[in-house]
Amino acid sequence: MKTSYSALDTFKTCPRKYKYQEIDKIRTPKGIEAVFGTLVHGALKYMFEKNPLYPTLDEVLDFYRTKFEEKAEHAEMRRQEKKDAELKMYRETGEDMLRRFYMKNQPWNFNVIELEGRFSFELPDEKSGETHTLTGIIDRIDKNPDTGEYEIIDYKTGAKMPPQDKVNDHAQLGAYRLALALRWPHLDEGKIKTSLYFLRHGEKLTAKPRTDALAFTKSEFLKTIRDIEKRRENGDFPATPGPLCNWCGFRNICPMWSHEYKKAEEQSPDEETVAAAVRDFFEAGEKIKELEAQENNAKKIINAYMDKNELARVFGSYGYITRSMQERVSYDLPALKDVLLEAGVWNDILEPDSKKFAKIFPKLPPDIQSATEEKRVVKKWSMLKKTPKSQK
Ligand code: SF4
Repeated sequence: MKTSYSALDTFKTCPRKYKYQEIDKIRTPKGIEAVFGTLVHGALKYMFEKNPLYPTLDEVLDFYRTKFEEKAEHAEMRRQEKKDAELKMYRETGEDMLRRFYMKNQPWNFNVIELEGRFSFELPDEKSGETHTLTGIIDRIDKNPDTGEYEIIDYKTGAKMPPQDKVNDHAQLGAYRLALALRWPHLDEGKIKTSLYFLRHGEKLTAKPRTDALAFTKSEFLKTIRDIEKRRENGDFPATPGPLCNWCGFRNICPMWSHEYKKAEEQSPDEETVAAAVRDFFEAGEKIKELEAQENNAKKIINAYMDKNELARVFGSYGYITRSMQERVSYDLPALKDVLLEAGVWNDILEPDSKKFAKIFPKLPPDIQSATEEKRVVKKWSMLKKTPKSQK
């Protein structure tokens, strides 16, 4: 299996989310929290890139603000109706984090050797005989030129700062330590430091790993991978709701939340349903035309056959058809007006006609027009007009 640290982390948080994301490959728009995290990380990367000088604090803030304007606007908001307030809150929180981080960590004081570096390592599973690949991205690696020590730093934008013992066994830091140890096998493991930097708190917590940290990390990842593979066989990926549901893009299909969305979806069909209805509308029109042509052609044949054979009824497998002659009588009424007037019945045959009235309405004096207003009845209905693509 080829997987990433973040995919395994998603599985541990909620197996159902993992399934939607990694197996079903359902793509959802990024939520504001995720976009915000990416933007802050991007600004911190920019801060440590010497090009040729390190950027000033103002330049870092400008970089962040520009990217924020470009990206955050399109993010999925938790509360669409409060979009502006939410955007403002995230923008200001990010600026504040960066400001405080810069004041405490001027970039020229660090020997940064890698920023947002990708890693990939193999994880053989002796039990199954399979070899898995684990990938990820490390925010920053520093090297202390005096001690030769390497420090892996991962930035956190969330509000929670865990206790020290959770940091010691932090799976993400374990993965990074393992990645570095496998990348540079000659490195003394004791010279690899791993830290989490909590930007909201302005605090860095460094892990004090257990002595068997690398073996422990490997076995934990293999356990998770085996669990995923077993669940893939029986499709058992339960939804495990928690605080992260607030930022989950799969709520509308998740069995824990979908009912909340059902009513709204029923009232407002999705794009796919509308597209299918438009297609049906066009196709139905075409079919009606075809059937009408088919019917007219059949009528022509039957009439000709009846004429030739002097028949009034023909039989077929569905039943029989009888021909009868129809009459519609009409009179040239204007030509008969004088006669009918003389007979005193002309007014009896005149029926009020709204269409005719609408025609003469513009010619009526304004006071008469307004006198008719209160008797005006407006009936509205919708019309669907088809315009085929080729007739733009
Ligand atoms: S909404 Fe919550 S329970 Fe459902 S998939 Fe997302 S994280 Fe899991």
